[in-house]
Amino acid sequence: MPADTPPPSSPALPPSRGKGASDLTEAEALDELTVLADELAAHDIRYYQDEAPTVSDAEYDVLKRRNEAIEAVFPHLVRDNSPSMRVGAARAEKFSPVEHGVPMLSLDNAFSDEEAAEFDARVRRFLKLGEEEVAYTAEPKIDGLSASLRYEDGRLVQGATRGDGRVGEDVTENFRTINDIPSRLKGFGWPEVIEIRGEVYLGHADFAALNAAAEAAGQKTYVNARNAASGSLRQLDARITAARPLRFFAYTWGLISAPFAQTQGEALAMLAEWGFKTTPQTQAVKGLSGLLRAYADFSKQRPKLTFDIDGVVYKVDRLDWQQRLGFVSRSPRWAIARKFPAEQATTVLRAIDLQVGRTGAITPVARLEPVFVGGVTVENATLHNADEIARKDIRVGDTVILQRAGDVIPQVLGPAPDTPRGPEPYAFPTHCPCPLHTPLARETTASGAETVVRRCTGEFACPFQRIEHLKHFVSRRAFDIEGLGEKQLVAFYEEELVREPADIFRLARDEAKLASLREREGYGEVSIRNLVAGIEARRTIALDRFIYGLGIRHVGETTAMTLARGYLTAEAFLAAMDKVADRDPEAVEELDALDQVGAAVIEAAAAYFAADHNRRIVAALVGELDIQDALAPKTDTAVAGKTVVFTGSLEHMTRDEAKAQAERLGAKVSGSVSKKTDLVVAGPGAGSKLKTAAELGIQVLTEDEWLALVGA
Ligand SMILES: [Zn+2]
Repeated sequence: MPADTPPPSSPALPPSRGKGASDLTEAEALDELTVLADELAAHDIRYYQDEAPTVSDAEYDVLKRRNEAIEAVFPHLVRDNSPSMRVGAARAEKFSPVEHGVPMLSLDNAFSDEEAAEFDARVRRFLKLGEEEVAYTAEPKIDGLSASLRYEDGRLVQGATRGDGRVGEDVTENFRTINDIPSRLKGFGWPEVIEIRGEVYLGHADFAALNAAAEAAGQKTYVNARNAASGSLRQLDARITAARPLRFFAYTWGLISAPFAQTQGEALAMLAEWGFKTTPQTQAVKGLSGLLRAYADFSKQRPKLTFDIDGVVYKVDRLDWQQRLGFVSRSPRWAIARKFPAEQATTVLRAIDLQVGRTGAITPVARLEPVFVGGVTVENATLHNADEIARKDIRVGDTVILQRAGDVIPQVLGPAPDTPRGPEPYAFPTHCPCPLHTPLARETTASGAETVVRRCTGEFACPFQRIEHLKHFVSRRAFDIEGLGEKQLVAFYEEELVREPADIFRLARDEAKLASLREREGYGEVSIRNLVAGIEARRTIALDRFIYGLGIRHVGETTAMTLARGYLTAEAFLAAMDKVADRDPEAVEELDALDQVGAAVIEAAAAYFAADHNRRIVAALVGELDIQDALAPKTDTAVAGKTVVFTGSLEHMTRDEAKAQAERLGAKVSGSVSKKTDLVVAGPGAGSKLKTAAELGIQVLTEDEWLALVGA
């Protein structure tokens, strides 16, 4: 049960995170955006692809809002791959891509009556309605998995997950196994082409039964119904999906060949006539008082419902008004999700354990008397860091308030009032729980400031960090070694078969060690053959994956790709990093010049390659591998070597296509305009980047001028 798995340690937060976005220096902003992009991307993958999120939605929202706040103050630092440009995550590679006819957007959230009132006021202001009350629908927000079903001439032709909002995963055959999804529309009045949108979910009883069966069979159980629904739908074998009791509620639509209703309420009635289930709890309400009443009503109904909901969705009822209101960035102006607050419970704090992350960051974990909250039994919760424990005076033996917000990792808010206290304040350990017992240091950032995170200074000598490093090394985005999962890796580590990355590749050629594996339970000839094949398949590795696999702090996938493209070969990269570690000014400058590499990455790379044990480990690994050069940029085109920024909307190609084309022609594409920019290609709607370009005197081209320049 994942509830037994302690939460992964939180990443080291830059101290600037305590400041308001407008108080940041540019360097701090760049650092934070780098860290936030990595962090959010990792959470997206765990949430959308692995179905195993490690932070609550609320914590995720905090990170996302922080990212947006900084981007608002520093628009020229907005990254191409900014988390604010994404909804959801990229699809998993195992499914074919489906481009949605109309993108699947996410809703803005409201967390209070005030925010609901602001929404209503905004709608009225935009439509210039004065005091007139707006008619809304209030629909339960199903906590499931969004899906889009394309019908042509009334027949289901394609079904896709949301994916990143623009491109989803093709799981048509799996949708066909869901009883609530008609393969042919009933009744009449449906447009020739329509994308029906709704939520795939599992009911409470079905979820419990599914987990009970999995547990009995010794298989992995799911943390909550939403993850179970997602995992059940995203199966390569539709027969597995068919065996799961998935349900579907329809609530909106995407692409339509012709309009079919005047209001949201009418549209829902049509969907029901065509054979879809719609939520029976949906209400038609008027004005702010109606919105607030519906929220109170849904809060009361929630415990009695047979499926999970995490809030109420308010939509402007009139579709012509929806049209006029339109969208702001990635969310509609005519709808908002009013979220329920987190659920709380009290329980006894039995002990506090320290968990050591890959980079040595220490996370205190509360071991609790099991308690049922928010639909699951909780035994562990994060305590964040030493300062939090001290500030809240949390003691072992306390009765504490536990909070869980439709999520996975609950948090301890503090001692419950009027309950007996633990005997003494918690003394945070001064040493790592690892056998080396190394002293813990407060983590510092690039600028030398102390953060709230404490860190084991043992690095690779600390077995906890070593194992986390190895897990990262074999993870999907890094070396992705088939047949070598985390469990086997930990076992291999404990048996001293694998102590560092190079050992994995040595193992594949070490007959004696492979022979010792044969004596292990459950390790047959076939699994050994598969393991060896999986390892050998990765002996040849792309430079960016190699760099990412090293596990340098702040070097996520995107930065790893940037480094690979910047240095082209492993030799050049490693030679440069050695110089960066020695603070060679030229090498540091060269690294700094790469797009979106800031102080955080430079400091992390310098620290990593300054450590002898890291150099030794990397050298040993390189000796085992055939690292492929990154593609050299072209040098004989009009834009070779130039740094280009695309801004505004493009008419002849998507932003991704434009970027790929520019890179093919040897240009560097940057997300922000700076002194290093050579060209800005501006389409309609270009804003602050265009202004910055004018201030810096940078050449600006229209999309057509750009296409003419590159000869496309
Ligand atoms: Zn340690």
